[in-house]
Amino acid sequence: MNIALIAHDKKKPEMVNFTVAYTTILKQHKLYATGTTGKQITEATGLEVFRFQSGPLGGDQQIGAKIANNEMDLVIFLRDPLTAQPHEPDIIALMRLCDVYQIPIATNIGGAEILIRALEDGYFQWREVVK
Ligand code: PGA
Repeated sequence: MNIALIAHDKKKPEMVNFTVAYTTILKQHKLYATGTTGKQITEATGLEVFRFQSGPLGGDQQIGAKIANNEMDLVIFLRDPLTAQPHEPDIIALMRLCDVYQIPIATNIGGAEILIRALEDGYFQWREVVK
């Protein structure tokens, strides 16, 4: 599966811990991330991550384009709900495209844990049918 990983600055430590905890599962999939998130994940885990632009520089939109092309199966986007983001329109657009294309998205660690376990248990096989 193609998995997008994005974390706002204050959520990056959570994302790093998450990817360290689930490296065994994540390494079976193709990983994509916004620039800084991807860099930190690779440094912490050694996982191979394709890095788009940093979020504020268009990374969210690049991931949105993958969704619109039916090339993303799961989005884990650890948002910071307490800090204003300069690229808020891009964030909303990304979440909107997940809804348009029925792509599972988690915006906090609780949802991320559920989705990664669902992935491990094979609940994403329907994506292969859609593709
Ligand atoms: P970053 O982008 O991974 O490059 O920091 C994420 C964001 O803040 O949208």
